[in-house]
Amino acid sequence: MSKMKVGLVGWRGMVGSVLMQRMREENDFAHIEPFFFTTSNVGGTAPAEARGAPLRDAKDFKQLSAMDVVITCQGGDYTTEIYEPLRNAGWTGYWIDAAKTLRMKDHAVIILDPVNMPVIKNALTRGVKDYIGGNCTVSCMLIGLSGLFQNDLVEWMTSMTYQAASGGGATHMRELLTQFGTINAEVKALLGDPHSAILEIDRKVLAKQHALSAEETQHFGVPLAGNLIPWIDKDMASMGTPGMSLEEWKGMAETNKILGRGPGFDATAIPIDSLCVRVGAMRCHSQALTIKLKRDVPLDEIEAFIANANEWAKVVPNTR
Ligand code: NAP
Repeated sequence: MSKMKVGLVGWRGMVGSVLMQRMREENDFAHIEPFFFTTSNVGGTAPAEARGAPLRDAKDFKQLSAMDVVITCQGGDYTTEIYEPLRNAGWTGYWIDAAKTLRMKDHAVIILDPVNMPVIKNALTRGVKDYIGGNCTVSCMLIGLSGLFQNDLVEWMTSMTYQAASGGGATHMRELLTQFGTINAEVKALLGDPHSAILEIDRKVLAKQHALSAEETQHFGVPLAGNLIPWIDKDMASMGTPGMSLEEWKGMAETNKILGRGPGFDATAIPIDSLCVRVGAMRCHSQALTIKLKRDVPLDEIEAFIANANEWAKVVPNTR
Protein backbone atom coordinates (compact mmCIF):
# COMPACT_ATOMS: atom_id res chain seq x y z
CA MET A 1 0.00 0.00 0.00
CA SER A 2 1.39 3.42 -0.88
CA LYS A 3 1.98 5.77 2.02
CA MET A 4 -0.41 8.62 2.65
CA LYS A 5 0.83 12.03 1.56
CA VAL A 6 0.74 14.18 4.70
CA GLY A 7 1.18 17.96 4.54
CA LEU A 8 2.48 19.53 7.74
CA VAL A 9 1.74 23.22 8.33
CA GLY A 10 2.80 25.08 11.48
CA TRP A 11 5.37 22.44 12.44
CA ARG A 12 7.82 25.02 13.95
CA GLY A 13 5.38 26.69 16.35
CA MET A 14 4.85 25.68 19.96
CA VAL A 15 2.28 22.98 19.25
CA GLY A 16 3.92 21.94 16.00
CA SER A 17 7.33 21.50 17.69
CA VAL A 18 5.83 19.23 20.33
CA LEU A 19 3.95 17.32 17.64
CA MET A 20 7.17 16.85 15.63
CA GLN A 21 8.98 15.64 18.75
CA ARG A 22 6.20 13.14 19.55
CA MET A 23 5.95 11.91 15.93
CA ARG A 24 9.71 11.26 15.91
CA GLU A 25 9.53 9.43 19.24
CA GLU A 26 6.67 7.29 17.92
CA ASN A 27 8.42 6.68 14.55
CA ASP A 28 5.32 8.03 12.81
CA PHE A 29 7.28 9.36 9.84
CA ALA A 30 8.04 5.76 8.79
CA HIS A 31 4.35 5.33 7.95
CA ILE A 32 3.69 8.50 5.95
CA GLU A 33 5.14 10.55 3.12
CA PRO A 34 5.61 13.97 4.76
CA PHE A 35 5.55 17.35 2.98
CA PHE A 36 6.44 20.49 4.93
CA PHE A 37 4.71 23.84 4.37
CA THR A 38 5.29 27.37 5.64
CA THR A 39 3.52 30.73 5.65
CA SER A 40 6.74 32.73 6.05
CA ASN A 41 9.70 30.97 4.46
CA VAL A 42 8.76 29.36 1.11
CA GLY A 43 11.78 27.58 -0.36
CA GLY A 44 13.52 27.53 3.04
CA THR A 45 15.03 24.50 4.72
CA ALA A 46 12.55 21.90 5.93
CA PRO A 47 13.09 19.38 8.76
CA ALA A 48 15.25 16.31 7.99
CA GLU A 49 12.14 14.21 7.32
CA ALA A 50 11.63 16.20 4.07
CA ARG A 51 14.86 14.57 2.80
CA GLY A 52 16.16 17.77 1.26
CA ALA A 53 12.92 19.06 -0.26
CA PRO A 54 12.44 22.79 0.40
CA LEU A 55 9.48 24.24 2.30
CA ARG A 56 6.28 24.55 0.26
CA ASP A 57 3.85 27.44 0.25
CA ALA A 58 1.10 26.76 2.82
CA LYS A 59 -1.31 28.94 0.81
CA ASP A 60 -0.83 27.09 -2.47
CA PHE A 61 -4.14 25.28 -2.96
CA LYS A 62 -2.79 23.09 -5.75
CA GLN A 63 -0.05 21.69 -3.52
CA LEU A 64 -2.38 21.30 -0.55
CA SER A 65 -4.94 19.51 -2.73
CA ALA A 66 -2.37 16.85 -3.58
CA MET A 67 -2.24 15.78 0.09
CA ASP A 68 -4.25 12.89 1.56
CA VAL A 69 -3.96 14.54 4.96
CA VAL A 70 -3.21 18.10 6.05
CA ILE A 71 -2.03 18.53 9.64
CA THR A 72 -2.00 22.17 10.70
CA CYS A 73 -0.73 23.72 13.93
CA GLN A 74 -0.56 27.11 12.22
CA GLY A 75 -3.43 28.80 14.06
CA GLY A 76 -7.00 29.92 13.61
CA ASP A 77 -6.41 32.64 11.01
CA TYR A 78 -4.80 30.11 8.70
CA THR A 79 -7.67 27.66 9.14
CA THR A 80 -10.20 30.41 8.46
CA GLU A 81 -8.39 31.43 5.29
CA ILE A 82 -7.64 27.99 3.86
CA TYR A 83 -10.07 25.33 5.06
CA GLU A 84 -13.29 26.37 3.32
CA PRO A 85 -11.81 27.31 -0.06
CA LEU A 86 -9.89 24.02 -0.05
CA ARG A 87 -13.06 22.03 0.66
CA ASN A 88 -15.08 24.11 -1.83
CA ALA A 89 -12.50 23.26 -4.48
CA GLY A 90 -13.38 19.60 -3.93
CA TRP A 91 -10.57 18.43 -1.63
CA THR A 92 -11.77 15.43 0.41
CA GLY A 93 -8.65 14.60 2.44
CA TYR A 94 -8.34 14.48 6.22
CA TRP A 95 -7.92 17.87 7.91
CA ILE A 96 -6.21 17.60 11.30
CA ASP A 97 -5.96 20.90 13.14
CA ALA A 98 -4.87 22.37 16.49
CA ALA A 99 -6.82 25.63 16.14
CA LYS A 100 -10.20 26.32 17.73
CA THR A 101 -11.85 27.49 14.49
CA LEU A 102 -13.56 24.20 13.57
CA ARG A 103 -13.72 22.49 16.97
CA MET A 104 -17.41 23.00 17.68
CA LYS A 105 -18.60 22.47 14.08
CA ASP A 106 -20.94 19.51 13.54
CA HIS A 107 -18.68 18.09 10.81
CA ALA A 108 -15.67 18.00 13.15
CA VAL A 109 -14.62 15.72 15.97
CA ILE A 110 -12.40 16.93 18.83
CA ILE A 111 -9.58 14.42 19.19
CA LEU A 112 -7.93 13.34 22.42
CA ASP A 113 -7.15 9.70 21.74
CA PRO A 114 -6.23 8.53 25.28
CA VAL A 115 -9.69 9.72 26.31
CA ASN A 116 -12.05 9.47 23.35
CA MET A 117 -10.67 6.84 20.97
CA PRO A 118 -14.19 5.31 20.60
CA VAL A 119 -15.55 8.71 19.47
CA ILE A 120 -12.68 9.01 16.96
CA LYS A 121 -13.09 5.47 15.59
CA ASN A 122 -16.83 5.94 15.28
CA ALA A 123 -16.22 9.17 13.33
CA LEU A 124 -13.75 7.45 10.98
CA THR A 125 -16.36 4.79 10.25
CA ARG A 126 -18.94 7.49 9.51
CA GLY A 127 -16.56 9.13 7.03
CA VAL A 128 -15.82 12.24 9.10
CA LYS A 129 -12.83 14.09 7.59
CA ASP A 130 -12.15 16.85 10.15
CA TYR A 131 -10.26 16.02 13.35
CA ILE A 132 -9.46 18.92 15.64
CA GLY A 133 -7.25 18.95 18.75
CA GLY A 134 -8.86 20.36 21.88
CA ASN A 135 -7.95 23.36 23.97
CA CYS A 136 -4.74 22.58 25.90
CA THR A 137 -6.25 23.12 29.36
CA VAL A 138 -9.30 21.02 28.60
CA SER A 139 -7.13 18.26 27.12
CA CYS A 140 -4.76 18.18 30.14
CA MET A 141 -7.70 18.08 32.55
CA LEU A 142 -9.42 15.26 30.66
CA ILE A 143 -6.28 13.13 30.41
CA GLY A 144 -5.82 13.51 34.17
CA LEU A 145 -9.45 12.83 35.09
CA SER A 146 -10.30 10.34 32.37
CA GLY A 147 -10.78 7.55 34.95
CA LEU A 148 -13.53 9.49 36.71
CA PHE A 149 -15.38 10.19 33.45
CA GLN A 150 -14.99 6.57 32.24
CA ASN A 151 -16.71 5.46 35.43
CA ASP A 152 -19.39 8.13 34.99
CA LEU A 153 -18.62 9.56 38.42
CA VAL A 154 -18.66 13.30 37.71
CA GLU A 155 -21.92 15.14 38.46
CA TRP A 156 -20.42 18.62 38.04
CA MET A 157 -17.08 20.33 38.49
CA THR A 158 -15.29 23.65 38.60
CA SER A 159 -11.82 24.30 37.25
CA MET A 160 -9.46 27.09 38.28
CA THR A 161 -6.50 27.31 35.93
CA TYR A 162 -2.98 28.68 36.13
CA GLN A 163 -1.98 28.73 32.47
CA ALA A 164 1.55 29.17 31.18
CA ALA A 165 2.79 31.52 28.46
CA SER A 166 3.15 28.54 26.10
CA GLY A 167 -0.61 28.53 25.63
CA GLY A 168 -0.20 31.67 23.54
CA GLY A 169 2.52 30.15 21.36
CA ALA A 170 6.23 30.61 20.69
CA THR A 171 6.13 34.39 20.34
CA HIS A 172 4.36 34.77 23.70
CA MET A 173 7.00 32.67 25.47
CA ARG A 174 9.70 34.87 23.99
CA GLU A 175 7.85 37.99 25.13
CA LEU A 176 7.61 36.70 28.71
CA LEU A 177 11.36 36.04 28.85
CA THR A 178 12.16 39.41 27.29
CA GLN A 179 9.97 41.15 29.88
CA PHE A 180 11.74 39.28 32.72
CA GLY A 181 15.07 40.50 31.32
CA THR A 182 13.90 44.09 31.02
CA ILE A 183 12.55 44.15 34.56
CA ASN A 184 15.67 42.51 35.95
CA ALA A 185 17.88 45.07 34.19
CA GLU A 186 15.85 47.87 35.76
CA VAL A 187 16.82 46.82 39.30
CA LYS A 188 20.15 45.11 38.66
CA ALA A 189 22.18 47.67 40.60
CA LEU A 190 19.85 47.52 43.59
CA LEU A 191 19.89 43.70 43.52
CA GLY A 192 23.68 43.80 43.57
CA ASP A 193 23.61 45.72 46.83
CA PRO A 194 22.50 43.44 49.72
CA HIS A 195 21.65 46.53 51.78
CA SER A 196 19.22 48.06 49.28
CA ALA A 197 15.61 48.39 50.41
CA ILE A 198 13.23 45.74 49.09
CA LEU A 199 10.36 48.23 48.81
CA GLU A 200 12.52 50.41 46.60
CA ILE A 201 13.17 47.39 44.34
CA ASP A 202 9.45 46.59 44.30
CA ARG A 203 8.53 50.19 43.45
CA LYS A 204 10.96 50.27 40.52
CA VAL A 205 9.72 46.91 39.24
CA LEU A 206 6.12 48.10 39.32
CA ALA A 207 7.02 51.36 37.61
CA LYS A 208 8.88 49.46 34.89
CA GLN A 209 5.97 47.06 34.36
CA HIS A 210 3.67 50.06 33.90
CA ALA A 211 6.18 51.67 31.54
CA LEU A 212 6.67 48.72 29.18
CA SER A 213 6.18 49.84 25.59
CA ALA A 214 3.53 48.59 23.17
CA GLU A 215 6.24 46.60 21.43
CA GLU A 216 7.31 44.96 24.70
CA THR A 217 3.72 43.86 25.38
CA GLN A 218 2.56 43.28 21.80
CA HIS A 219 1.52 39.64 22.34
CA PHE A 220 -0.03 39.61 25.82
CA GLY A 221 -1.16 43.25 25.71
CA VAL A 222 0.06 43.82 29.30
CA PRO A 223 3.10 42.70 31.31
CA LEU A 224 2.98 39.00 32.22
CA ALA A 225 6.44 38.94 33.87
CA GLY A 226 5.98 39.37 37.62
CA ASN A 227 2.24 39.46 37.04
CA LEU A 228 -0.81 37.40 36.12
CA ILE A 229 -3.67 38.03 33.70
CA PRO A 230 -7.10 37.01 35.01
CA TRP A 231 -8.71 36.91 31.57
CA ILE A 232 -7.80 34.74 28.56
CA ASP A 233 -9.19 35.31 25.06
CA LYS A 234 -12.48 36.92 23.98
CA ASP A 235 -15.33 38.20 26.16
CA MET A 236 -18.37 35.94 25.84
CA ALA A 237 -20.84 38.66 26.89
CA SER A 238 -22.12 38.89 23.31
CA MET A 239 -22.98 35.17 23.49
CA GLY A 240 -25.19 35.76 26.52
CA THR A 241 -22.64 34.78 29.17
CA PRO A 242 -21.33 38.04 30.69
CA GLY A 243 -18.33 37.68 32.98
CA MET A 244 -17.05 34.67 31.06
CA SER A 245 -14.00 34.51 28.81
CA LEU A 246 -13.85 32.25 25.77
CA GLU A 247 -11.20 30.15 27.54
CA GLU A 248 -13.62 29.62 30.44
CA TRP A 249 -16.50 28.79 28.07
CA LYS A 250 -14.40 26.07 26.40
CA GLY A 251 -14.14 24.19 29.72
CA MET A 252 -17.70 22.95 29.49
CA ALA A 253 -18.30 23.08 25.73
CA GLU A 254 -15.18 21.21 24.59
CA THR A 255 -15.06 18.74 27.49
CA ASN A 256 -18.57 17.53 26.74
CA LYS A 257 -18.00 17.33 23.00
CA ILE A 258 -14.80 15.29 23.54
CA LEU A 259 -16.70 12.93 25.83
CA GLY A 260 -19.58 12.63 23.37
CA ARG A 261 -22.08 14.38 25.66
CA GLY A 262 -24.42 17.34 25.31
CA PRO A 263 -26.05 18.74 22.13
CA GLY A 264 -26.06 16.18 19.31
CA PHE A 265 -25.25 13.24 21.61
CA ASP A 266 -27.39 10.84 23.64
CA ALA A 267 -25.88 11.71 27.05
CA THR A 268 -26.59 14.98 28.87
CA ALA A 269 -23.80 17.52 29.33
CA ILE A 270 -21.82 17.62 32.57
CA PRO A 271 -21.92 21.17 34.04
CA ILE A 272 -18.41 22.66 34.29
CA ASP A 273 -17.60 26.16 35.48
CA SER A 274 -14.12 27.57 34.90
CA LEU A 275 -11.95 30.46 36.03
CA CYS A 276 -8.93 30.84 33.76
CA VAL A 277 -5.83 32.82 34.67
CA ARG A 278 -2.56 33.28 32.73
CA VAL A 279 0.54 33.18 34.95
CA GLY A 280 4.16 33.98 34.17
CA ALA A 281 5.28 30.36 33.77
CA MET A 282 6.91 29.04 30.59
CA ARG A 283 5.11 25.74 29.93
CA CYS A 284 2.79 23.36 31.79
CA HIS A 285 -0.60 24.59 32.88
CA SER A 286 -1.91 23.67 36.32
CA GLN A 287 -5.48 23.53 37.49
CA ALA A 288 -7.35 23.24 40.76
CA LEU A 289 -10.52 21.21 40.41
CA THR A 290 -13.55 20.87 42.64
CA ILE A 291 -15.54 17.83 41.66
CA LYS A 292 -18.99 16.71 42.82
CA LEU A 293 -19.16 12.96 42.39
CA LYS A 294 -22.40 11.11 41.73
CA ARG A 295 -21.71 8.73 44.61
CA ASP A 296 -19.41 8.37 47.57
CA VAL A 297 -16.15 6.71 46.49
CA PRO A 298 -13.18 6.02 48.83
CA LEU A 299 -10.11 8.12 48.07
CA ASP A 300 -7.90 5.13 47.24
CA GLU A 301 -10.43 3.97 44.63
CA ILE A 302 -10.54 7.46 43.12
CA GLU A 303 -6.74 7.45 42.89
CA ALA A 304 -6.76 4.02 41.26
CA PHE A 305 -9.36 5.10 38.68
CA ILE A 306 -7.22 8.13 37.81
CA ALA A 307 -3.88 6.30 37.71
CA ASN A 308 -5.14 3.37 35.61
CA ALA A 309 -7.17 5.30 33.04
CA ASN A 310 -4.37 5.91 30.52
CA GLU A 311 -0.59 5.80 30.30
CA TRP A 312 -0.27 9.60 30.61
CA ALA A 313 -2.06 10.09 33.95
CA LYS A 314 0.00 9.84 37.15
CA VAL A 315 -1.18 10.28 40.73
CA VAL A 316 1.44 12.23 42.69
CA PRO A 317 1.16 11.98 46.50
CA ASN A 318 0.18 15.28 48.09
CA THR A 319 3.33 15.72 50.16
CA ARG A 320 5.86 18.49 50.23
P1 NAP B 1 2.78 29.49 17.52
O1 NAP B 1 3.85 28.96 18.44
O2 NAP B 1 2.58 30.96 17.50
O3 NAP B 1 3.09 28.94 16.04
C1 NAP B 1 2.26 29.22 14.96
C2 NAP B 1 3.10 29.69 13.75
O4 NAP B 1 3.68 30.95 14.03
C3 NAP B 1 4.29 28.84 13.41
O5 NAP B 1 3.90 27.71 12.71
C4 NAP B 1 5.10 29.78 12.55
O6 NAP B 1 4.61 29.72 11.21
C5 NAP B 1 4.76 31.14 13.12
N1 NAP B 1 5.85 31.78 13.90
C6 NAP B 1 6.11 33.10 13.89
N2 NAP B 1 7.13 33.40 14.69
C7 NAP B 1 7.57 32.25 15.22
C8 NAP B 1 8.62 31.92 16.13
N3 NAP B 1 9.43 32.85 16.64
N4 NAP B 1 8.81 30.62 16.47
C9 NAP B 1 7.99 29.66 15.98
N5 NAP B 1 6.98 29.93 15.11
C10 NAP B 1 6.75 31.22 14.74
O7 NAP B 1 1.35 28.89 17.89
P2 NAP B 1 0.97 27.57 18.75
O8 NAP B 1 0.95 27.88 20.19
O9 NAP B 1 1.80 26.45 18.28
O10 NAP B 1 -0.55 27.40 18.35
C11 NAP B 1 -0.97 26.91 17.07
C12 NAP B 1 -2.45 26.67 17.12
O11 NAP B 1 -2.73 25.66 18.10
C13 NAP B 1 -3.28 27.89 17.55
O12 NAP B 1 -4.49 27.90 16.86
C14 NAP B 1 -3.51 27.64 19.03
O13 NAP B 1 -4.65 28.28 19.50
C15 NAP B 1 -3.67 26.15 19.06
N6 NAP B 1 -3.36 25.53 20.33
C16 NAP B 1 -2.29 25.96 21.06
C17 NAP B 1 -1.99 25.31 22.25
C18 NAP B 1 -0.81 25.74 23.09
O14 NAP B 1 -0.70 25.26 24.23
N7 NAP B 1 0.09 26.59 22.61
C19 NAP B 1 -2.75 24.24 22.67
C20 NAP B 1 -3.82 23.81 21.89
C21 NAP B 1 -4.11 24.46 20.71
P3 NAP B 1 5.57 29.78 9.92
O15 NAP B 1 6.62 28.73 10.10
O16 NAP B 1 4.66 29.51 8.77
O17 NAP B 1 6.14 31.15 9.95
